[in-house]
Amino acid sequence: FFTALHAAYRDALDKPFLTLPDGRSLSYGEMDARSAQMAGALRALGASPGDRIVMQVDKSPKNIALYLGAMRAGLVYVPLNTAYTAEEVRYFLEDAAPKIFVCTRESHDQLAHVAKEAGVDHVLTLTADGAGTLCDAAFAAKPDETIVPRAETDLAVILYTSGTTGRSKGAMLTHENLASNAATLNALWEFSETDVLLHALPIFHIHGLFVALHTAMLSACEILFLPKFDVGDVRKALPRASVIMGVPTFYTRLLAEKDFGKGDTAHMRLFISGSAPLTIEAFNTFEERTGHRILERYGMSEAGMIASNPLDGERIAGTVGYALPGINVRIAGEAGAPGEVEVKGPNICAGYWKKPDKTQEAFTEDGWFRTGDVGMLSDDGRLSLVGREKDLIIAGGFNIYPIEIEQILDAVAGVAESAVVGVPHADMGEGVVAALVADGAAPDEDMLAAALSPLAKFKRPRKFYWLDALPRNTMGKVQKQALRERFKDAFT
Ligand code: ATP
Ligand code: MG
Repeated sequence: FFTALHAAYRDALDKPFLTLPDGRSLSYGEMDARSAQMAGALRALGASPGDRIVMQVDKSPKNIALYLGAMRAGLVYVPLNTAYTAEEVRYFLEDAAPKIFVCTRESHDQLAHVAKEAGVDHVLTLTADGAGTLCDAAFAAKPDETIVPRAETDLAVILYTSGTTGRSKGAMLTHENLASNAATLNALWEFSETDVLLHALPIFHIHGLFVALHTAMLSACEILFLPKFDVGDVRKALPRASVIMGVPTFYTRLLAEKDFGKGDTAHMRLFISGSAPLTIEAFNTFEERTGHRILERYGMSEAGMIASNPLDGERIAGTVGYALPGINVRIAGEAGAPGEVEVKGPNICAGYWKKPDKTQEAFTEDGWFRTGDVGMLSDDGRLSLVGREKDLIIAGGFNIYPIEIEQILDAVAGVAESAVVGVPHADMGEGVVAALVADGAAPDEDMLAAALSPLAKFKRPRKFYWLDALPRNTMGKVQKQALRERFKDAFT
């Protein structure tokens, strides 16, 4: 896949690639040279094609150079969430068995020890400002411009899932998986060399690393590269951007700025959202304030992007749009009813690293990938998600889809956001509870009950809890397991 990226920017070497908040830019040519330096350093350390390299470092241009260098050298790249603790890193190192591990300078003392116990050959450091022993090695090594040939079915990346529903599993992504998805998104969202992408996402996750980076690189776009999402910095950068990719919390944080509106966004071409559900309210408020309809898409570590609202054509709040070209989506079970979303296409990973049982469970007998998400397809092929299979609530034998209740609660004045979960209930099996965050003065329970009255009785939450914030991970995903744990005694 590196060959395809290289071909896309080869004639644009002077063009800015990553532009930092202080205005400094790194051109495509400079990044190409740095990736060759990294590849040279990795080779000097004895890494050969197919070896794994695990990283847990802060977002920086050098981290991108390392990613591209690892691809160039034919290694298998394994990024880790920067929030993982030493004990969690131990699990990933033991699982991935890398030749090289790169961490921050601050975490080095602790993690070098863990890595040694896990049998890792080399532990190097990389700091956010581009220093560390990895960079020393890159300067010392002879740059290696070779692009190691890789077959479509060769492993490019092991991408650990976010761990929202259990222990993270390593999705094995091949070069074909990355290449097909990047080309599809680049065409579907009509990226061109004049686009400027605002990038404020982390780069250890599929969203920031692949959806954002690859899609933009295939048109040799300039990327405004922010270390993280800071609402002030994002507003400062917006005037120069044409496209932004974000998680829903980006949009709700922008909307929380009272003066945010058309002045910030009039020149923008496209706002994209994914990784977690965008509420209908956020979609509508964003349109009222800016005139832009956010384009919501759906994907996952194991499958890249699966479905997207159209670029031209109607974007419908609460739906994730049509299956991408070349990708098929079907709903398991009874026709017309919600069921598990199943997917087939060149985007689907080769399975879970070292987990043959999980891999087997993840595919149907006829070879479709089971996403674990529950959804419905409209007659014209639009997909809407109603929750994850593991978050489905079964009360008294009835299936309850949390999103139906959450959408009603979110629309009540004074409710900023909500999450509905099922917890043990002696009679019903599970009982429904709602966790809510207030927006100003919280409405009383009578108001909530009135809003919920159109729902069948068995679906209505029996208990309401007001929290300061919903528990979310760095990608803005609500951690429902944490809520179930917290309220597990609600009915006992
Ligand atoms: P784990 O698989 O370890 O439990 P995870 O599923 O959260 O964690 P990811 O691969 O990062 O790990 O996330 C993919 C999931 O994110 C999808 O299966 C889906 O549930 C959710 N998701 C992504 N985009 C959307 C969207 N637009 N709307 C609703 N949910 C989404
Ligand atoms: Mg998952």
